Amino acid sequence: MSKNILVAVAWPYANSLIHVGNITGSYLPADIFARFQRLKGNRVLMVSGSDAHGTPVTVRADAENTTALQVYQKYHASFLELFLKLGLCYDLFTSTHTDNHFKVSQSIFLALKNNSYLYTERQLQWYAPSQGRFLPDRYVEGTCYICNYPNARGDQCDNCGSLLEATQLINPRSKIDGSTPELRETEHFYLDLGKLQPAIVDFLRQRESYWRPNVLRQSLGQILASGLHGRAITRDLDWGIPVPVEGWEGKCLYVWFEAVIGYLSATIEWSQIAGVPEAWHDWWYKPTARAYYFIGKDNIPFHAVIWPGQLIGAKEWFGRLFEEREGHPLTLPYDVPANEFMNLEGQKISGSRNWAVWGLDFLSRYDPDPLRYYLTANMPENKDTDWSWQDFLIRNNNELVATWGNLANRVLAFAYKQWDGLVPQPGELRPPDREIIAMVEAGFQSVGEQLEAVHLRAGLMEAMRLASEVNKYLDQAAPWFEIKSDRTAAATSIYTALRAIDSLKVLLSPFLPFTCERLHSYLGYAQPLFGEQYTDTLHDSLGEHIALRYRPGKASGRWQPSELQAGQELRKPEPLFRKLEEQILEEERQRLGQ
Ligand SMILES: [Zn+2]
Repeated sequence: MSKNILVAVAWPYANSLIHVGNITGSYLPADIFARFQRLKGNRVLMVSGSDAHGTPVTVRADAENTTALQVYQKYHASFLELFLKLGLCYDLFTSTHTDNHFKVSQSIFLALKNNSYLYTERQLQWYAPSQGRFLPDRYVEGTCYICNYPNARGDQCDNCGSLLEATQLINPRSKIDGSTPELRETEHFYLDLGKLQPAIVDFLRQRESYWRPNVLRQSLGQILASGLHGRAITRDLDWGIPVPVEGWEGKCLYVWFEAVIGYLSATIEWSQIAGVPEAWHDWWYKPTARAYYFIGKDNIPFHAVIWPGQLIGAKEWFGRLFEEREGHPLTLPYDVPANEFMNLEGQKISGSRNWAVWGLDFLSRYDPDPLRYYLTANMPENKDTDWSWQDFLIRNNNELVATWGNLANRVLAFAYKQWDGLVPQPGELRPPDREIIAMVEAGFQSVGEQLEAVHLRAGLMEAMRLASEVNKYLDQAAPWFEIKSDRTAAATSIYTALRAIDSLKVLLSPFLPFTCERLHSYLGYAQPLFGEQYTDTLHDSLGEHIALRYRPGKASGRWQPSELQAGQELRKPEPLFRKLEEQILEEERQRLGQ
């Protein structure tokens, strides 16, 4: 039976480009999983968007002497371009800067307030009289009260590395105009995580048996060690979502509080665009629906602890407030398969030092599937991994080209040439033919189990192992020689290999969608495996925003073994991958400034 599966993907901050560490951390695993679930025939909704608000965006705007809106729009456009080129098929990739997201976030806030999970507290904060506004921590600089470094930021000292209490900075000054701020009292709303703790612990205990150890450590482990405490969810900032309470003008919801609500608001926006405004209930109200959150390890507490807390605390009141009708409890995360980090040539990736392989830059020189292959084979599922150009070259040439690409190409080219562009009519299948077909068909079980458990790396390795088995089969059968003495025997071998390749194409398609789609067409199929991505310009009272969308169209891929028929008309094949030359190593080293 078809299941409703929400594939919730981390929201990139619209203040910098995306590098390979980000891609393998969350975006690519989400897409592989979503494609697999679509092939299985499940009702998949993959959603995310740009995180448009908060100081990361305003700080960048100040540095570039522009507005937060322009910064967000610029990076949002770069995300759309990258995701299209990389084949990340979001049903909706939107933004937090939409009317809908404002309303959904404010409804969650009000539901929590209604259910007494919010409280207010007064605190001191730096205020700039010259500008008539409170300054976020990152907007104040001064002397570190720990090491006396004169240029410490309000939230952290770059010299001694300490996290700072901004109000204790010595000789504070505004980062915007250098003026001296003064401490003034301000009031904020807090999420009462202490009160939510028993329910959050229950939620985590129910998932303890199958969550990744790193995720459990940073959620359940942390709570049991030090407990949960209230956390401010509003701040004095004008770029963001207004606090929906009278007398609180000029304050915004904290970006960490509202950005996670994007998973819900994007589903609702998707339903509205689709013309079925209540469709989101199928993912958020149905107890059988499953929500998977693909994020990096730096985001674990927000997705495994705080977001579940927000959902639990909203109870059935979100629907009541948002739709003004009967509501239900909202679906809690089923799994949060967070990845660790990927380093680059042995060092931590750093955008600011330009120590990174940037997604769009990479794709200006190489194809998307080799990137997807390498990032999956090297995915930091359980520990940090390393991007090495040498390793990329070796895996591309020895695995992708040698094991898989050449297999598909030489069999297809031989069949196309020898049997007039048709799948040959086999004789009766011999034991080795039946064995290899059965072995590859078993992959729908073995690869499928790995993908279902979000062990993507193991799933890919299993599919590649099966490709090696088909190579061994062909070495034994040697149809290129067989054909000289026994044309029927050769036809049987080639038919067998084509059928195995046709199945492998499906097993590999979540990982390598572009080349598998081409292979699918060479094998003579008229309808594509997957649907298409496209961009769409949407309008609301905040202006226009461009979204990435997915149209299933004539997608015909199914997670099931090939039923390739003799006589099917093939299309002239071309190589799926290209071998890389050693010289790229030197070029890429120079690009990194090594
Ligand atoms: Zn310091």
